[in-house]
Amino acid sequence: MPLTLSSLLKSVLAPSSDLSFDTQDLAQLSKGTEGLEYLKDKKRQLLAVITLTQSFEIKALLELANKYADDQQLAFSIYPISSGKNWGYGSSQPSGINNNIILVDLSQLNKIVHFDSELGLLTIEPGVTQQQLSDFLEHNQHNYMVPVTGAGPECSIVSNALERGYGITPYTDHFSAVTSIQGYWANGTSYQSAINELDQSTEKLVDKSFKWGLGPYLDGLFTQSNLGIVSQMTLRLAKLKPDFTAFFIQLNNDELLEQVVPLIKEVLQTYEGIVGSINLMDQRRLLAMFAENPNGYEAHKVMSTENIERLTQKSQTPSWTIVGSIYGSKRVVQAVKKDINAIFKYIPCKRIYSNNYNIVLSNKLINNLPHWLIKHSTILFKLAEQLKAFNKGKEIMLGKPNKVALKLAYWRNKNKNDFPVNSLSPAKDGCGLLWYAPLIPMKANKMREFVDFVRYTCPLFNIEPFITFTNLRHDCVDSTIPIVFDLSNPQAVIDAHNCLKALVEGGLKKGFVPYRINIDQQQSLLDKKSDFWQTVNQLKNSLDPNNILSQGRYNPR
Ligand SMILES: Cc1cc2nc3c(=O)[nH]c(=O)nc-3n(C[C@H](O)[C@H](O)[C@H](O)COP(=O)(O)OP(=O)(O)OC[C@H]3O[C@@H](n4cnc5c(N)ncnc54)[C@H](O)[C@@H]3O)c2cc1C
Repeated sequence: MPLTLSSLLKSVLAPSSDLSFDTQDLAQLSKGTEGLEYLKDKKRQLLAVITLTQSFEIKALLELANKYADDQQLAFSIYPISSGKNWGYGSSQPSGINNNIILVDLSQLNKIVHFDSELGLLTIEPGVTQQQLSDFLEHNQHNYMVPVTGAGPECSIVSNALERGYGITPYTDHFSAVTSIQGYWANGTSYQSAINELDQSTEKLVDKSFKWGLGPYLDGLFTQSNLGIVSQMTLRLAKLKPDFTAFFIQLNNDELLEQVVPLIKEVLQTYEGIVGSINLMDQRRLLAMFAENPNGYEAHKVMSTENIERLTQKSQTPSWTIVGSIYGSKRVVQAVKKDINAIFKYIPCKRIYSNNYNIVLSNKLINNLPHWLIKHSTILFKLAEQLKAFNKGKEIMLGKPNKVALKLAYWRNKNKNDFPVNSLSPAKDGCGLLWYAPLIPMKANKMREFVDFVRYTCPLFNIEPFITFTNLRHDCVDSTIPIVFDLSNPQAVIDAHNCLKALVEGGLKKGFVPYRINIDQQQSLLDKKSDFWQTVNQLKNSLDPNNILSQGRYNPR
């Protein structure tokens, strides 16, 4: 009997693993928030999806793909996903547009392999999600935080770190908290660090606690790349501190931006390790979280000045909101809170702290009132809703995942109200979203230049200019601009992509360079002839001579 790809794949898979050629399964996985499937020559096609249950299968699959790489009938390439929720950057779609791509779903490899509660070192497989880790920590009463993101509970921790994503818990930059990686290069060779190889103890704790290993640092080659598959990762978790407060500083004048940037820098430099990352959000961005789209969810147009005035009057939305958190002992939190008040004293602003007496009291009041009363009183209902959103934001800063930030992706989704918060899933729910995520020097004039640039460019394409800045450090800010559009409107899809292109191209001229790009840009934006990408290609040729892994992922060829 002639060999078929199906029988070949099954010969290396564990009986518990699943191989599917089902067109409906594949169509679902080829659907993203990015709208690439609606654009000419951008559609990604999958041949099959394999859901693995044993990590040894990764090596077997890589070896098989290499062995048959030149076979006309049986050649295939592999694209791994850990949770496949890379919304706005590709969702679960592969980077390349070649044929015969098999999606390798690692979500069932979800063992928490080891946790050292004394040191806070966690070793996990790729499928472990934020919620799973949160439940594990809570169940075992370990006082550590999950490195949460706005993408929420169902997302993998490993893949977010491999994308070099970030959040706003104390270890903001998720890959920087990764101390050790194990996996396989695309040619099937296994990988562990040189320290791991030298260490003859069973726990190999040194490898787990020392990021840089010995000799050339290779762990980083697994991030934003297509050179290998990670089967296990160790990361440092931030410890919950005895006390905490979130702070919200509200500015009612857009022009105060230049004055507050140096103050944010001062707070970050002076209280490094005590104040976590700081977010700065503009008015439109905040409205997207709390208001209903005044144009209706189908309209392909931005909010007018009148819309904004009406909405902000109704909900008292400030021009800028600074959001941060203080972690420490009770005395440290009190002292830093006082200092922050002093730092912002000369700026006209409202400062709200989550541990303020009136917030604690309002929470107590709402929690003790009967549900029917809240439902029938407009004031109480509004207060309850505001407190709910406030508390959800606070939960995220304490490392508890939730879906509150996901609502943003539904700003132009006409079926928005059909989806309950707990089941939000932007790609499945037909949301249109792309990210523009450039790095910006932490200088007030550059940040203003960026704000003007985004506010000018986005409306040209009927895209709302929602602006968030997140401090990665005191000297570097990442801005995330969500390009939210109606995926069911062909013109809106084209406009969204043109908007992103205009932002990226215009931004590069001004020195705003993305820290992360989507699966289409990973080929279209990068210059394969540059010294950097030529070197990457030399590595690729050596570690993946048959080009069987994640073709096109951060790799222009
Ligand atoms: C409203 C909203 C808010 C968001 N907020 C944030 C945020 O705060 N921070 C943030 O960083 N992102 C955010 N995102 C973006 C994105 O959804 C997350 O980064 C998400 O965690 C990435 O998807 P994933 O973890 O499911 O990765 P996957 O889709 O599983 O993988 C992402 C990439 O990594 C590669 N990969 C995955 N696993 C492996 C492996 N084991 N070995 C080798 N390569 C692998 C894949 O091939 C793929 O290219 C947000 C998105 C939305 C819609």
